[in-house]
Amino acid sequence: MPHIAFIGLGSNLEDPRSQLQRAFAELGGLPETRLVARSSLYRSAPMGYLDQPEFVNAVAKIETTLTPRALLQGLLQIEHRHGRERTFRNAPRTLDMDILLYDDEQLHEHGLTVPHPQMHLRPFVLQPLLEIAPDAAIPGMGRAVMAFEKCRDKMLEALPDVA
Ligand code: ADP
Ligand code: MG
Repeated sequence: MPHIAFIGLGSNLEDPRSQLQRAFAELGGLPETRLVARSSLYRSAPMGYLDQPEFVNAVAKIETTLTPRALLQGLLQIEHRHGRERTFRNAPRTLDMDILLYDDEQLHEHGLTVPHPQMHLRPFVLQPLLEIAPDAAIPGMGRAVMAFEKCRDKMLEALPDVA
């Protein structure tokens, strides 16, 4: 039986919208994996380190028979192909891909925590997630819509796809 996972994507360097659109296709191209749905692209202000360009964020829903660990490896390889460099925490990035949810599993392993530990605090994750999965639940946290009500400031602006 395939597993259902939700992936958070973000970029604020080198044409973020096309980074994300390529990343959707590459997600669907991972072994044993099918892209089921993708949110709109949303413009969001940087958090943490503020002196950097605004972000474009989105969420994808996939079906996969990869384990969470193998899926993470696949995501890190896609990031690497997009020229992602790890410099400092909250630094600008060409592409970030995080596992938000994997079925209703809760994992605390070395280098892999699911659900993603900050997702319930991040409007730029929750708004796109709710667009494609209005009934989503965050294991251990409750309904995503409740988390969004608590942390949202204003609604994020959806952007047109690039041609
Ligand atoms: P961030 O996404 O917090 O800005 P990075 O993308 O540099 O930071 O990720 C740092 C590490 O976070 C990754 O190498 C990965 O091992 C770890 N990590 C832990 N849980 C997850 C998850 N659910 N999804 C993606 N990465 C995760
Ligand atoms: Mg990441």
